[in-house]
Amino acid sequence: MSKTIHNCVIIGSGPAGYTAAIYAARANMNPVVYTGAEPGGQLMITTDVENYPGYPDGVMGPKMMEDFRKQAERFGTTIINEMIDKVDFTGPVHKIWSETGEEIHAHSVVISTGASAKWLGLESEQKFMNNGVSACAVCDGFFFRGQTVAIVGAGDTAAEEASYLSKLCEKVHMFVRRDEMRASKIMQDRVINTPNIEIHWNTETREIMGTDTVEKVRVYNNKTEKESEIEVGGLFVAIGHKPNTDMFKSWLDMDETGYLKTIPGTSKTNIPGVFASGDAQDHVYRQAVTAAGTGCMAALDAERYLTANGVI
Ligand code: NDP
Repeated sequence: MSKTIHNCVIIGSGPAGYTAAIYAARANMNPVVYTGAEPGGQLMITTDVENYPGYPDGVMGPKMMEDFRKQAERFGTTIINEMIDKVDFTGPVHKIWSETGEEIHAHSVVISTGASAKWLGLESEQKFMNNGVSACAVCDGFFFRGQTVAIVGAGDTAAEEASYLSKLCEKVHMFVRRDEMRASKIMQDRVINTPNIEIHWNTETREIMGTDTVEKVRVYNNKTEKESEIEVGGLFVAIGHKPNTDMFKSWLDMDETGYLKTIPGTSKTNIPGVFASGDAQDHVYRQAVTAAGTGCMAALDAERYLTANGVI
């Protein structure tokens, strides 16, 4: 018996993957979603989401992803809770392998594998995750308005998030582990010239302290070799993200940090029939709503590709 060739396999189940599934299913493409190790993606470790349009009272991240999944299933999406760990895009039929070793064939593939925030690796960071510790100022800054917070990192993201937080919070402590910042000059100037951002150079974050929520951070100055404690209501970790794209390395064009490259204005990668959406290809916006938007683009691009190739 010959192997089934799916019209569209979607790898990943965050807002991008599920939105691609909703569009693909409604276009009769019978999509199959492989959810990956964390069905629902980064939103599953987020509490309140207040900036996703359509939820006037806000929604919990996991509930929102359940809604996305239900909407995708309603139109006939097949959802499989497995990881994909290998691909072969020699084409024209694309080959994909799941963690169980099953070989899957598809005319089109939508990649929505997302990105993972990098963490400091402290035990206390785990303890206060979503309870005062966050990796997304745009998502969670609002909950700390009027308070004193800290941010760790010295790249463009940390600089941008520090500026964002400075508009909401009374004070922002910025912990920079070296005596210089990696962020672009313009972003550095912005944080340096913002009166309520205090930059702590040569400062490493050692421990996040508190009873139920974050109350203090213990930091270590690697020049003076002294430790100190700083009172904060929340800690933002902005030390970079890693796109989950390692398995595509031999096939797809990506930038030096692993973000997939798409043809501007489309979701098309360098391989016909392979489309990229969400945080796997976006290091700038990284929002649920922008991920969903690019998931929609990927499904529409896949549909046009299948039509042009006489598959549907
Ligand atoms: P980056 O990798 O550029 O920066 C990470 C920062 O975190 C570095 O300053 C690094 O310090 C610091 N860091 C890493 N690990 C630790 C640790 N354990 N403790 C303390 N600090 C740590 O990541 P970004 O997310 O900032 O940026 C990713 C890419 O996206 C970049 O190319 C950036 O330019 C781009 N970007 C562009 C924006 C824009 O143009 N508006 C906005 C946001 C991002 P160190 O320098 O010492 O290694």
